[in-house]
Amino acid sequence: MLRESYDIHVEAAGRMLQGAAGANLATPELNRLAHRWIRATVARFEYTYHAGGRERTRVYHAMSGREADEILGLPVSEASGQYVGIAASRRASIEAAAGSQLAVPEPGHRLDAEVKGFRTLERDLVEGKVPARGRLRIWISQPICSSCRAMASSFETSYVIDTTIFQWRRSVGPDDVSLFRKLDQHRRLGSSTLRAWRRAGSGVTGRTGCLP
Ligand SMILES: [Zn+2]
Repeated sequence: MLRESYDIHVEAAGRMLQGAAGANLATPELNRLAHRWIRATVARFEYTYHAGGRERTRVYHAMSGREADEILGLPVSEASGQYVGIAASRRASIEAAAGSQLAVPEPGHRLDAEVKGFRTLERDLVEGKVPARGRLRIWISQPICSSCRAMASSFETSYVIDTTIFQWRRSVGPDDVSLFRKLDQHRRLGSSTLRAWRRAGSGVTGRTGCLP
């Protein structure tokens, strides 16, 4: 579930690396992005609504922090163009809708994954890309902070959309088989995945090692 949302971001970063500019990036720069995304919050918003006589769901994938092209220093003018092959599914990004009804995030929480999720869904609602009166389910890789909780309340109040939030918790100990732990293990493969994309782009064999 959240692993898929994470993968969509890694694959999009991979497509950026496949471009000529990205193929020359050094391994430490790739590792920097992968390490950041090991700690980033992953959020998945599933908005279900009725249209054309049937139930539909649009999924929004959000990752906290700056976007991949900014972290990598790549000249990708339209990063969202790299998020392909996800019909009925979108990358969540930070721009607020004109006349946004959402609470303003607290300092230090402006790039939270949940902010991107709520703002992207609000943009779609305001622009009529999805109808109102649906229901929203959110999965987050860590407990929601007070800033994002305030934003969730403002969303529910403004759009009267029933919202359920599922928060993953990091548990401790060697017997931890939590979903968070599985996501954590998966994310540790991120830098080798990015290196594979770079190799595919440059046609040369990259260095190995450097896994966290
Ligand atoms: Zn937050």
